[in-house]
Amino acid sequence: MQGGAAGLAYRGRTASIGFAHGPFVRVDAGAAGERVAGTLVEEALALRNAIDVASGQIADLAASAGGEAAQILEFQVALLEDEDLIEAVFASIGEGRPADIAWRSTLDAQIADYNSAPDDYLKARSSDLADLRDRVVHILRGDQGQPLKVPSGGVVCADDLPPSRFLEIDWSGGGGLALLRGSPTSHVAMLARARGIPMVVQLGTIPDIGTTALLDGEGATLELDPNAEQVRTFEKRRDSHLKSRASARAILRRPTASWRGERIKLFINIQRVEDLEHADAQYADGIGLMRTEFLLAGRSVPDEETQFQAYDAVLRWAGQRPVTIRTFDAGGDKPVPGFTLDGEANPFLGVRGLRLCLARPEIFAVQLRALARAAIRGNLKVMFPMVTSADELEAGRKLFADIVQRLLADGIAAMLPELGIMVEVPAAALAVSSFKAAFFSIGSNDLAQYVLACDRSNGALAPLMDPLHPAVLELIARTAEHGRRAGISVSLCGDMAGDPRCLPALLNCGLRELSVNASALAQIKHTIDRLSSGGSVG
Ligand code: PEP
Ligand code: MG
Repeated sequence: MQGGAAGLAYRGRTASIGFAHGPFVRVDAGAAGERVAGTLVEEALALRNAIDVASGQIADLAASAGGEAAQILEFQVALLEDEDLIEAVFASIGEGRPADIAWRSTLDAQIADYNSAPDDYLKARSSDLADLRDRVVHILRGDQGQPLKVPSGGVVCADDLPPSRFLEIDWSGGGGLALLRGSPTSHVAMLARARGIPMVVQLGTIPDIGTTALLDGEGATLELDPNAEQVRTFEKRRDSHLKSRASARAILRRPTASWRGERIKLFINIQRVEDLEHADAQYADGIGLMRTEFLLAGRSVPDEETQFQAYDAVLRWAGQRPVTIRTFDAGGDKPVPGFTLDGEANPFLGVRGLRLCLARPEIFAVQLRALARAAIRGNLKVMFPMVTSADELEAGRKLFADIVQRLLADGIAAMLPELGIMVEVPAAALAVSSFKAAFFSIGSNDLAQYVLACDRSNGALAPLMDPLHPAVLELIARTAEHGRRAGISVSLCGDMAGDPRCLPALLNCGLRELSVNASALAQIKHTIDRLSSGGSVG
């Protein structure tokens, strides 16, 4: 979907579910005028003053916002108090740069640093830094930054939007947020979810014109100047969403979900131990995917004890429930300095996931030791990502088994957990019976990217990147069918598991185990309930 005229629609990625119909408001930050530079001392004083003003503005916002928003803003205030950062800017002023240029270039370097972090969470923090950069530059250039004025219920559209700008907007009359770039893991996305503001990110290029807009946070679409028919179908979708949301929370407490008499197991995906604090997590049947890459967010690979503590904490939380931990899936869109290879021409088709771990056994061994020790503490399953051939699984298994033997020989309690693989490379789905895996988990994000030849992070390809494409569904169905015949569990942990519109197709493909973000659990359970009683996805 694309275009520049009335009635056309644009598709991005969901950051917060919900619906908004209102005036279309572009709020991109305008460039403030140039600063006339003074002496070195004047520039240094101007910088100090601008930082104080910015700190004060953010602290005021934090005080009026409270709760989670205040915590998020504290991160920004702490950054403004980072003397190392400020010293670097002073040094740059000392070299003769005006305060605004010195501040901007130092912050730009920091932002680039955050952007190259392997972890989505850290990457998303770069927009907080960009906010500080722009806020201080505007103050230095004599523009104190007027609070954003948005008409009640407006659909706000920006390139990206930092938390502090989000909090300046009065959302009490509803409205929504449409970002051309942005990320579902950004702070502003967390705030939007917490406040129930619909938000769609990575919409690509949108024309500046437009009077009214329909924002569908569920279908991840933005429709500009819609016609009467578009408004009618939008309102239908919105009404059924509102109805289903009200019943979803009640359904969450029920013990099981079932479809056509078969039990559907619903697990959650986590990235970090803190994700278990989500209020709905307790209702999950277990953890279907723990992405361990977050442990690589620091500058070096964490030691065995740090890793063991993280895995152990998750197993303790889960009790008897199964916990599936995925070994490091670095590489591709998740480079890790010192671990992944530099300069690959095509990293998505490069040495990533299990390929990389097998190429760096000294790093992999540390993770496998921690997992082998944690395995005795609960119901642990371990899976390898980005597996192409059965030999890779066997190579990983051999390394793991040798490590367990060595731990036991040293008198350290350990065991080999159940071993499974992610099915996310088309070859693995097509030759699924060649793998001696204890379980399979379908990574539909990567599977779709490789089947459809669409880089998953390229917003321009969003309309083509359709996980419901028959070719993707065919591979999912094949994998599920193999599991059913062989008596091997098959789950799906990619984003489509958390998308209610994909559920009928996934259930019809034969899947009975899904793993979703905790925030999607209620909606998915509710949707299964509706489908099983003959209703629609709604
Ligand atoms: C996937 O590819 O679907 C998946 C679950 O893993 P990730 O998104 O971490 O690559
Ligand atoms: Mg994947």
